[in-house]
This record gives sequence, structure tokens and C-alpha cells, in this order.
Amino acid sequence: MASRAASLVRPLVRNLHGYTPGEQPRVKGLIKLNTNENPYPPSPKVLAATRAAVDGRLRLYPNPTADALRTRLARLHRCAVENLIIGNGSDELLALAIRAFVEPADSTAGRRDRSRATVQYFWPSYSLYPVLAGIHGAHTAPFALGPDFALPNVRELRRRRWDFHAALTLVTTPNAPSGRGYATSDLDALCRATRGVVLLDEAYVDFARENALGLALRHPHVLVSRTFSKAYSLCAQRVGYLVGHPDLIAALHTIRDSYNVNGLGQAAALATLADLPHYRRNFRRLLATRERLRRELTGLGWGVLPSETNFLLARPPGPPAEQWLERLRASKILVRWFRSPEVSAYLRITVGTDAEADALLKAVRKIHPLA
Ligand SMILES: *Cc1c(COP(=O)(O)O)cnc(C)c1O
Repeated sequence: MASRAASLVRPLVRNLHGYTPGEQPRVKGLIKLNTNENPYPPSPKVLAATRAAVDGRLRLYPNPTADALRTRLARLHRCAVENLIIGNGSDELLALAIRAFVEPADSTAGRRDRSRATVQYFWPSYSLYPVLAGIHGAHTAPFALGPDFALPNVRELRRRRWDFHAALTLVTTPNAPSGRGYATSDLDALCRATRGVVLLDEAYVDFARENALGLALRHPHVLVSRTFSKAYSLCAQRVGYLVGHPDLIAALHTIRDSYNVNGLGQAAALATLADLPHYRRNFRRLLATRERLRRELTGLGWGVLPSETNFLLARPPGPPAEQWLERLRASKILVRWFRSPEVSAYLRITVGTDAEADALLKAVRKIHPLA
């Protein structure tokens, strides 16, 4: 029996299952390889600029349109300021895109109307997408990927009833949790075939061979999302952005909070863009660690998928993956395991520092030495 207070909550909200973020435990000496954070801190210049922004100005509202940041990003991406919106993390922008482009579901509606209320995405991909669709009361249309997690071609989309008119299609590229990168030419074909808005979520693109930003500037129905969280070591500051047609971007500006990006986040992101060579060195180091980890785990009998991200999806030998999760935890190493059957045989391991990779490999050898 629901309490009186619970009965005051909308039934849709009462029945929702919220997103489950990766754990952030406070355990001394814990090696945290579970949420794809960058193991390296922000650059010294970024830390200095952020500290310098902590003064009496904290009493003032931040710039409501993050103008300095958008101007700098427009220069970087060779687009107009009107092609850009900054968000409180890219997660906020995903939620805004659903609210701006997708109708809430109406049980009386017909088939075409169903598409207008549909959020479509490949599965497995970012598990936040169905949660955000659920909050909005939209239909969800997960499209199952094959065991190699490859991007289906247009013929296969047709054959398997892709919803070409879905109001919003969300594509994680490179994908998570598979780590698989997608060719821009294949993404272009998918975008050209799809009539509704396509949002390419490039949260991990700095670790990939290609990016698809050009598609957002070429096609009026394509948005590309980026974040300062993962590659630029700014998870705590919550800054992400979308690139796309000014009419789509203007719609998102209309519905966002007036001061959605906090002042310190704007300062940190701006300082990051002034120090990109530092971050490019950081990416090279991470890729070298990623490839070494992949080689060594493979040598220990793990099935490691090729990755264009800062994490590896890897199938451990011997005990089930869920048991590996617990045994690694006992060695103070935290990785991520997903219950979803498509990936439940795997662990997702964030690429950390070289020392963290060594600690992981040492623990792995102890848990299951290869005969
Ligand atoms: C981490 C992540 C995000 C969220 O990034 P924030 O900018 O921190 O909100 C978005 N998409 C994917 C696929 C991610 O893994």
C-alpha cells in the first residue's frame, strides 16, 4: 500500500527505475577503474585558472550562455557560436534533446505518431538513454547489436525494422560499453537514411581514430555531443556541449535552465581549451597503456575487444565475470560489471595509469594464473 506522500507522486515517476551510476566508494588505496574517469588530473594551468576563479565573484550569476566558452569552441570546430550549446555535463543535453524533440507517448496514437514519441538507440550502449526516455514518458526502441557490437549497415537496418522516423536516435560513438569505434562514413550512411534527429554521443571520441563532428555541420538533423568529463579530467565540473544546426540548438537554448553551466565549470573548460597540447600528450600515454593492457590480458587468456575508448571490454577466463568483480574488489581494484545478458560475461575496465595497470595485472595473475 503506497503511503499518502507516495500517492502524491505522478504514477509515471513512482514506477521509474532511476539510473545506477558506477560506485564512488571512499576506500583508501582503492584503484578505481569503474567509471571511465581519466586517471590523470587536469593540467596545472587548468587547476590554477579554476583556483583563480574562486573569489568574491562567486556571489554573481555566471554568464548565462557561456559565451567565452562557446566562442572558443566555435573557433576550434570552425563553426558558428549559434551551432553550440553548453550543458551541465552532456547528460543534461541528452535529457534536453529528448524534451525538445520527442513527444511524450500517447496510448491512443497511431504508428506514425508512435515514432514521434520514440527514442531509439543501439543496445548495448549508454544505459542512461532508456532512463531519460522513461522520465519523459516516451517509447523506447532498443536495436540489438550483434555479438561483435558492429554498427549495422543500412540494408540490415531496413531488414530489421529500424525506425527511420524515430523522433530521436542516440548513437554512442565510439560505443560503450563495447569500446568499439565506428567509421564516420558508416555513421554518415545511417544519418542520411534516418529522418528524425540523430544525436551522435562522442563522449570518448578523443581516444578514437575518427570523429563525426562534420556530420553535425553538414546535416540539419544531426547533433554531436562532447564532454569535458572523460578525456579532459573534469567530471566534477560538469561541462559538455552539443554541435548542430542553429534551429535545433536554439530549441535547446529555449528550454534549458538560464544558468545551467556553473561559473567554475566555464572557467575550467576555457582553460582546458587553452592547454590542448597537454591533453594530447595525456591521450597518447593512455592509448599506450590501453594497448599494453589489452596485450597482457589477452596473454592471460582474456577475450579483450579492440577499443577506441579509455576502457576495455574484456571476457575473463575461469570464474564468471561477476565473481571476478568481487575478487578484484577484495584486492582493492574496482571495475564495472553489467548484469545485462549481452555483456554479463565481460568486465569493463577503465584504462588507468601504468602503475594501476600493473596492479590490475598482478591481481589478475593471483586470482586465475594461466596454466
Ligand atoms: C560519461 C558519458 C556521458 C556523460 O558525460 P557527462 O558530460 O559527464 O554528463 C555521456 N555519454 C556517454 C556514452 C558517457 O559514457
